[in-house]
Amino acid sequence: MQDNTAEKLDVNHYLLNGLNPEQREAVVTLDKALLVLSGAGTGKTKVLTTKIAYIIENGYAYPSQILAVTFSNRAAREMKERVFNMTPGADAVWLGTFHSICAKILRSNADLIGLSSSFTIIDMDDQLKLIKQILKEMNVDKKMANPVANAISRWKDKCIRPNDLRVDVTTVEGKVYATYQERIFSYDSVDFGDLLMYVVRIFKENSHILQKYREKFKYILVDEYQDTNMSQYMWLRMLSPIGAGLCCVGDDDQAIYSWRGAEVGNILRFEKDFMNTKIVRLERNYRSVGHILGAAASLIAKNTTRLGKTIWTDGDSGEKLVIQRAYNGYDEAKIVAEKIEKLRKESVEFGQIAVLVRAGFQTREFEERLIAYGIPYKVVGGLKFYDRQEIKDLIAYMRLIYQTNDSLAFERIINVPKRGIGASAFSKLHTRAIERNISLFQASKDMLVENTLRPSVTASLTTFIEFIKSMRKQKELSPVEIAKAILDETGYMRALANEKTLESQGRIENLKELLIALEDFDDLHMFIEHVSLVTESKRNNADEVVSLMTLHSAKGLEFEAVFLAGWEEGVFPHNMSLQEGNVEEERRLAYVGITRARKYVYITYAMNRKVYNQWMSNLPSRFLAELSPEHVVHIKGKTVRD
Ligand code: ATP
Ligand code: MG
Repeated sequence: MQDNTAEKLDVNHYLLNGLNPEQREAVVTLDKALLVLSGAGTGKTKVLTTKIAYIIENGYAYPSQILAVTFSNRAAREMKERVFNMTPGADAVWLGTFHSICAKILRSNADLIGLSSSFTIIDMDDQLKLIKQILKEMNVDKKMANPVANAISRWKDKCIRPNDLRVDVTTVEGKVYATYQERIFSYDSVDFGDLLMYVVRIFKENSHILQKYREKFKYILVDEYQDTNMSQYMWLRMLSPIGAGLCCVGDDDQAIYSWRGAEVGNILRFEKDFMNTKIVRLERNYRSVGHILGAAASLIAKNTTRLGKTIWTDGDSGEKLVIQRAYNGYDEAKIVAEKIEKLRKESVEFGQIAVLVRAGFQTREFEERLIAYGIPYKVVGGLKFYDRQEIKDLIAYMRLIYQTNDSLAFERIINVPKRGIGASAFSKLHTRAIERNISLFQASKDMLVENTLRPSVTASLTTFIEFIKSMRKQKELSPVEIAKAILDETGYMRALANEKTLESQGRIENLKELLIALEDFDDLHMFIEHVSLVTESKRNNADEVVSLMTLHSAKGLEFEAVFLAGWEEGVFPHNMSLQEGNVEEERRLAYVGITRARKYVYITYAMNRKVYNQWMSNLPSRFLAELSPEHVVHIKGKTVRD
């Protein structure tokens, strides 16, 4: 059959100006299930935003009849802005993450599954609390909380309800799941996984509702399709069974969320899934210079499970990627900060520079250096190092040890980790402190002498106060020794270790990183002073700041210059992935990292790193050797610390 869609539509529309023929074709193809499958920087997101504007401007649908899904709130915001610039009518477009869109649908139909329309959405912390409660009732070690939470999320990713479980039904995970689900339901609450699962269920059980949404959304657009999970996929298939008016864009080489249940198979199966499909491949890259593209292509070619694609640019080949060896992490941060200053002098704006790391804890060393150099920065998709909960907790302990009158610090950690000094006990201490105009620490000591508190509170408060006092007495201890004693003796580290989640793992890494930072300080006072200065200088709201973030958060973004730090075996590729034998996903992550850059890529690796007070020699990341030599230059850098 001849495809004459393009002729029928307004191909001369001004919105199409500047698009290449394949992009145009993708924008004007409206009646088919369209998949745009192409490499990084080829304009997939641009096609999506243009398409939304094109539909609205031509009156093919009302804005409220367009559904556009992205993978993060930030991506949604950016997309909205881009569409707004093209058409003012975009306000009513249903544009957001899968979760936010499903929350909206669920609120309008909550009664169908017995929730009120004002149900609450609980976060991971609440989820874990509830799971721990249930484990306790079942007499199971709460160490299981994290594996259970993970299992529940993975089931929900696949829309598997407790009733659907087969062999798993008798496992701890399966049993908790059933109770957990009853329990949050009775609280009129849902977790993130429920948002999708419930909407899918509503659609399944109420054909008229599903029909309503099918008719409503004339056009459905999905960005980063390679990272959709099973429930998102089911949801889409229900809304668009044939695929008419559906447009998914993605890149199998950028699938980086399998650990969260994403299934790249969804994109690979597209042609089989829908009736009248069309696949557009965009091959021209508009983002990066030739050397960056070449290097990225040579790296990703090492993956065996991929579709494979060509990418070209008619821009110049630009500069080669610079790979620089540093002596240690300190030097690495210094090299990066100096290079950023140099770029700034060459008039690359701070806002056009990103430092990408594999794991959250790695930002610390860079933050310190950027602050020292007066370079403004933000941590994208996360908190600045010294704003992170566990870091603030540990520092609060140190502040209290240094200065017992620091009642803010006292308040922060009196029940962290939990030691049975709850709100009512605290309020007694607080009232006393206010009445007598004394510190909480002093109030505690006084009330312990008077012996008026509950026995259990008395016991744990005594332990706490004695711990602080004993730390104060041991004048010979260095800050790092004090910090270690805090983490060990209060049970803080143990509590985190027991959680065994990715998040708690991240927190532990952050704390270890703080211990490394502490080694530069001989006394507590100097360190506390340093922290207040560091946190003081962070308040800049200008857009013109360097972005620090993990590779995962950088998906979809672009910068003039990108620093890729910590390319060492075990750091990147990450140890966990090595153990799981999932190097290909790490390689895709490296591909995502490199392809964020328009002009400059600097990759650094350190020969030595301090891990928990021990020097470790790391091997350079295997990915370095996989970059085609013609696109890179190596700088050996200093071999001794200056
Ligand atoms: P990623 O896979 O990284 O998400 P992408 O395929 O979504 O990349 P876009 O972000 O849409 O790519 O586009 C990359 C860059 O190329 C953007 O700066 C965009 O404005 C630009 N671009 C895309 N198409 C064109 C074009 N036809 N002419 C000029 N610039 C373009
Ligand atoms: Mg994109």
